[in-house]
Amino acid sequence: MDTTEVIPVENRTCCVVGCGPAGAMLGLLLARAGVDVVVLEKYPDFFRDFRGDTIHASTLQVLDELGLLAGFEQVPQQRTVSIGIRTDDGTATLGDFSTLPGKFQYISMVPQWDFLAFLTQEAARYPSFHLRRQAEAFALVEDGGAVRGVRYRDPDGVREVRAPLTVACDGRHSVIRQEAGLVAVEFGAPMDVLWFRVAKAEGDPAGTFARLAPGRLFPMIDRRTYWQGAYVMPKGSFPQLKARGVGGLHQELHRYLPFLGNRVEKGVRSWDDVGFLEVKVNRLERWYRRGLLCIGDAAHAMSPIGGVGINLAVQDAVAAANLLAEPLRRGAVTEADLRAVQRRRERPTKLTQRVQLLMQRNMISPLLESSDSAQLPRPMRLVTRAPFVGRAVARLLARFMAIGFRAEHVRSAPITEVRQETV
Ligand SMILES: Cc1cc2nc3c(=O)[nH]c(=O)nc-3n(C[C@H](O)[C@H](O)[C@H](O)COP(=O)(O)OP(=O)(O)OC[C@H]3O[C@@H](n4cnc5c(N)ncnc54)[C@H](O)[C@@H]3O)c2cc1C
Repeated sequence: MDTTEVIPVENRTCCVVGCGPAGAMLGLLLARAGVDVVVLEKYPDFFRDFRGDTIHASTLQVLDELGLLAGFEQVPQQRTVSIGIRTDDGTATLGDFSTLPGKFQYISMVPQWDFLAFLTQEAARYPSFHLRRQAEAFALVEDGGAVRGVRYRDPDGVREVRAPLTVACDGRHSVIRQEAGLVAVEFGAPMDVLWFRVAKAEGDPAGTFARLAPGRLFPMIDRRTYWQGAYVMPKGSFPQLKARGVGGLHQELHRYLPFLGNRVEKGVRSWDDVGFLEVKVNRLERWYRRGLLCIGDAAHAMSPIGGVGINLAVQDAVAAANLLAEPLRRGAVTEADLRAVQRRRERPTKLTQRVQLLMQRNMISPLLESSDSAQLPRPMRLVTRAPFVGRAVARLLARFMAIGFRAEHVRSAPITEVRQETV
């Protein structure tokens, strides 16, 4: 970059980097509370690879509290009331959402891009919401040890946003937290995940389920017209599978999910039709610095167990808006305010990760390590063979997934002025 070049500067009260679930919800809540907020998103649209479609009861509750439930229900979606488990021994229920307390006894399956488009359209009704697309943040603006905004690139060149508070919502590979020198503690995961899609057909099993077999786990999400399937494999083993060619994956699917028949070859024609998720579980020790806060995956990448990442990101955004909207409006956000957000969200995050790590250690690892001749790990045998234990686990797991350890409620007050506009 030419150092004599004049960089255009935009001044806002809050700069949110990243428009995933955390950034979109935070942008909406702050704008609704009258805070002048800009959200930077590096992509031109929300249409990306599969990154989870699950909108859980805790997020539905937030939408209800915002008066957005009726609008959200117009977005094409599907309700899931239970999750099954299928083994060579038979079937059982792994998660039963019909037993959940509160208003929502289901989870909604909504493509993530539709959910983000919905949130940003609602946010754009407030005059203080600004969304910049194709805006990739790459550096912090700092002054006297405090973060005072970011530099980003868009198709016209380099620009700067200056703001008393920057919130990193830029996901598990956060550039902002790296630039800020905040380091995450890694907790490890025994698995990686491949994602694929196969069309549904008459006679397929009903509903979302996980196919378990010694050495193998295939979560299969029922998306009405297609299966969003996952192949959970021992960490680091993708290169071996890849060396067998895509036919190796076809063989695995035919063996353990025979009902898919020749739809496997049609849905997964090459590795280009397969998404790879390198599973990580980590958490920042300190989520903030003067002028900067990290939330969502930027503060804590979650294991895919329970599919809770989107919902935790939304809960972080609600807590951040509850605690920061008022100090932001006053123009006086302190480190103590940022610490309060970490305090509020660290405990539920830790507890969720502890449960995930426990399940990784006692269920996923033994399952993936067991050979074809071995039995399923003991906790899984109990779930499938002892109905009483199975029912108790199904209730607990549903609650863990759908509500979690601390449900946040919207407390930031709305402003009244609303404009009708879309972004
Ligand atoms: C394959 C896969 C499947 C998943 N399945 C599920 C599931 O079923 N249920 C579930 O709850 N969770 C699931 N997750 C996890 C879930 O996607 C995340 O936990 C959740 O999206 C975190 O939200 P976030 O807003 O913190 O970050 P992200 O969703 O990662 O959003 C970050 C945003 O920041 C943008 N960005 C990144 N860097 C920059 C930059 N420098 N400048 C500007 N913008 C930037 C990105 O483009 C993105 O839009 C899955 C994840 C993956 C990868």
